[in-house]
Amino acid sequence: MYVWFNSQPKWTAITIAAATVVVSRLIYATIKYVRSRKSEVLNILIFNELSGSCAAKHSGRAPFKCRNKYCTKSHIQSIVHQIDQAQHSIDIAIYTFTIIELLEACKRALRRGVTIRAISDHEMICSSGSKVSSLNRLGVEVRMPRTTAMMHHKFMVIDGRARVNDLRLKDRKAKPRACQSVVVYGSTNWTLQGFNGNCENCVITSDKQMTEQFQTEFDRMWKSFEYSSCKVKTCIK
Ligand SMILES: [Zn+2]
Ligand SMILES: [Zn+2]
Repeated sequence: MYVWFNSQPKWTAITIAAATVVVSRLIYATIKYVRSRKSEVLNILIFNELSGSCAAKHSGRAPFKCRNKYCTKSHIQSIVHQIDQAQHSIDIAIYTFTIIELLEACKRALRRGVTIRAISDHEMICSSGSKVSSLNRLGVEVRMPRTTAMMHHKFMVIDGRARVNDLRLKDRKAKPRACQSVVVYGSTNWTLQGFNGNCENCVITSDKQMTEQFQTEFDRMWKSFEYSSCKVKTCIK
């Protein structure tokens, strides 16, 4: 090899130059890949009788890192954070929804051009303070089961892969934006009672199987409840 290098100075220079280019390209591509790949999300929010014990410390203050691991405010903030990350779609299947912070986050998402769909329970949409009806007034389509069976889910899929692909097919001119599929699900209704006082759980995860299966069920319900959306208007004031 060494002898060859000495006898072929021109080819040696070319070989070294080519190798340098290839190696630097590889390093660049690796850095780009690592940066584009968002880290997996797994956040398990537990609510119990201790969730509100720090409430006084939070009143009138901007969100801060609270040491109470069951903190109502911090847990709501974790969900708000996920809504704020949404790039394309938010699909909400929620039995009751009255939390203002979550509605505000949804409004910000709508302003960013995120498409929101909501499935809820008929009785609950019609109850006072329902933020599902607020979403509906903002132009969000709301559907519900036509039967008396309860829509008892509490989950939200953000940028679900199938949904994002679907939206892209509908709007080919839209710029593709990097996004991460996340599902938020658990026992917790989006109400003060659910987040503050009840013993509840809420999991935020980017697990592929979870996000895909919840998205699949949302899409199935959405189709199944297709002709129920018009009824919302009759009871939403
Ligand atoms: Zn706290
Ligand atoms: Zn009604």
